Formats: sequence, C-alpha cells, structure tokens
Amino acid sequence: MELPTQHRYLFNGHQELLTPDEAKAWRNLQVERLIELCEYPAVKELFHVRWIAREPEVLELLKSGSEDFYKNTLQRLDGKTKHCPKCYALCRTSRARLCPECSHTWYR
Ligand SMILES: [Zn+2]
Repeated sequence: MELPTQHRYLFNGHQELLTPDEAKAWRNLQVERLIELCEYPAVKELFHVRWIAREPEVLELLKSGSEDFYKNTLQRLDGKTKHCPKCYALCRTSRARLCPECSHTWYR
C-alpha cells in the first residue's frame, strides 16, 4: 500500500514533532511492512523481536489501525507542521522552502 503523500511528509520530514511513542508506532508500521515483504521466517522473527515496540502506549496509538494513527497524529500536530504560505500544502520537511504542490518558494 502506498502511503498518502502528506503522511509520508509528516512522518519522514517532521519527525522532531513526534512524541517518542508516535515515533515508535511509526517504526512499528515500517517494520511490519518489511516483515510482510520478507520471505525468510528467521529474519521475520528477528525483525519482530528486535524492532517491534510492545509498550502499551505504543500499541494504544495503533489499536484502531494505521489510517487512524496517521489522521490523529496529523490532527494533533495541526498548526505545528510547516505549510506552504501560498496554497497551505504540507511541506516535505519542517525546514522546506519549496512547496511540493504549487512549487512556490520562499527562500531569503
Ligand atoms: Zn504551495
């Protein structure tokens, strides 16, 4: 499944805004995807044991699925994420000076 663009930008480009639990939940989703794609049972098991966070706070964030987790996190960070001053699209990173949607720039 391809991630919606704004979720990718949020979790890859605005990581410093995530709480430690949100960062772990995001990592769980990435690792689960790797596990899905991997064909070696021993490696799958290793990924599971080493990289899946099991803290109740992290599992709580993911209990109603990845879509809800993305939506809730985006909502929580509303106003803190970086947006294009012209079209208000979410920027790729918090330091971006180029809009990914309308190509507006605000370098100075
Ligand atoms: Zn724009």
